[in-house]
Amino acid sequence: MSGSEQPIAVGVDLGGSHVMAATVDAQGKIGSRHETDLVDHDPAKVVSALAGCVKLALADAKGRSVAGIGIGSPGRIDARSGIVRYSPNFEWHDVPLGALVATALGQRVHVINDARAATLGEYAFGAGRGTRDFLMLTLGTGIGGGIVMNGELLLGSGWTTGEVGHHQIRAHDGFVCACGKIGCFEAQASGTGLLRHVVALGPSFPRSKLTYKARKLGTKAIRKMAEEGDQHARTAWDRWIDDLALGIANLVTILNPERIALGGGVSGADAFMLDPLVPRVRALTTMADPNGFEIVTATLENDAGAIGAATYMLRQT
Ligand SMILES: [Zn+2]
Repeated sequence: MSGSEQPIAVGVDLGGSHVMAATVDAQGKIGSRHETDLVDHDPAKVVSALAGCVKLALADAKGRSVAGIGIGSPGRIDARSGIVRYSPNFEWHDVPLGALVATALGQRVHVINDARAATLGEYAFGAGRGTRDFLMLTLGTGIGGGIVMNGELLLGSGWTTGEVGHHQIRAHDGFVCACGKIGCFEAQASGTGLLRHVVALGPSFPRSKLTYKARKLGTKAIRKMAEEGDQHARTAWDRWIDDLALGIANLVTILNPERIALGGGVSGADAFMLDPLVPRVRALTTMADPNGFEIVTATLENDAGAIGAATYMLRQT
């Protein structure tokens, strides 16, 4: 008899090319997971692929009480209605994702932004455990973010709280951002930003092959070359850390978090990244206590989104 058992939820991590659904319990543990590639961004096709993964996860969970489905989706998500207001990845405007999935599966559904879901996952069960005021940054193609204050995930009046990537840090001499502004935090300090620093430094390193190979090599290879002492890679890494520190210091000044977790492919946020980063952030944090926060590596990796989405669902019941 499972009457005293806490209900589980299915957490869905919806990406531009891939969807993963997993059963997640109230302790943030993943039971079974199912995933598939997305080949078509038509809403009906995405819902069908997503529902297929959820059904397989639910079949594995038979006998357990299921509270519903939590979905982390890219874009500006109206978390009250489950409508994807705008998603550049999918080229969607006002797609009622929550209602479509609820109809397909006969389950309660909540939808939030994917970076916000990952933040909640890390806050509840990963790098944010034990804090009340927590900030998560995912450094990838862009910079995704999320903010927890006094134990609450902030969503905002128009559902964009945590879009930290588009505050400008180099408005006069920075790179052009995908959003059209100059020197946005994500244009400078995402994984893509690191590659752009490599290219921008090309004229200073005329014999370096990196200028032409940076994008093909990717951030991990650039980082490795910086660690091995390549001057071009090392200078780019240093500028990138400067920009990352500037953006994080702004966020610390405004939000006063206890802890900031860094996730995403570029980070591998260990000593090579954190040792130069942390003192630079502290030096720029003039109003907040410079020793009143810590910067750590996110711990849930690719599971943060699904765990967070399911946790969001469980917390709505
Ligand atoms: Zn921007």
